Amino acid sequence: MASGEPLIVVISGPSGAGKSTVAAQVLEKSPGLVRSVSVTTRRPRAGDVDGEDYHFVSPEEFIARRDTGMLLEWAEVHGNFYGTEAEQIDRSIAGGKSVLLEIDVQGGMSIKAARPRAVLIFLLPPSDGILEERLRGRGTDEEDVILKRLENARKELGSAKDYDYRVVNDDLDRCVGEVLGIIAAESKKNGADDPSAPR
Ligand code: ADP
Ligand code: 5GP
Repeated sequence: MASGEPLIVVISGPSGAGKSTVAAQVLEKSPGLVRSVSVTTRRPRAGDVDGEDYHFVSPEEFIARRDTGMLLEWAEVHGNFYGTEAEQIDRSIAGGKSVLLEIDVQGGMSIKAARPRAVLIFLLPPSDGILEERLRGRGTDEEDVILKRLENARKELGSAKDYDYRVVNDDLDRCVGEVLGIIAAESKKNGADDPSAPR
């Protein structure tokens, strides 16, 4: 058992880059890594499970949690509020598990300021055209939402340079392997166990 502190790993990137897909595979291959479940005011999409995908709350409830200092970071994204509960992160770390946050670039920067040892990974689509294809192909959003997300993507891509790592999500297995490699190397640097090692 290593003595170093488990990692906080942040994955950001434009909507449609493949964050959820990549994160799901990385988590599946990493018994020592847990996903941070964010709080949001966004309406659940078909298939979203409350408490698993997000904690879905009203704007009033979100503001109450934010104003009582329960959130380590929060941001408004595509017209909705999203935030990370500090207690959830601290509980995972105290329990010896690294934690994966799938959050936007504003949140990524806030986490780096609050927890400087956090590892920030920016997921890039292979091209603008493929990003649009993936967003449309997902079939979860209305046209106006897709257009808003594409516009936001162009802004988000400008933040890639502020991240510790940039990973292109071309071939899924290759991309997942690269992310697992970064987590393993950063864990070693921190003197912590590799979350993908069998437990
Ligand atoms: P995000 O969480 O970044 O918004 P998703 O994980 O929902 O993105 O992925 C967007 C769409 O692209 C989904 O339909 C997903 O199945 C698909 N996708 C993700 N990664 C790849 C990949 N490497 N190759 C092809 N399609 C992908
Ligand atoms: P979606 O509505 O597609 O699930 O997520 C929209 C955006 O919100 C994504 O970029 C996602 O990474 C971001 N997001 C999800 N949870 C959080 C969070 O807790 N904090 C911040 N800052 N962004 C989040």
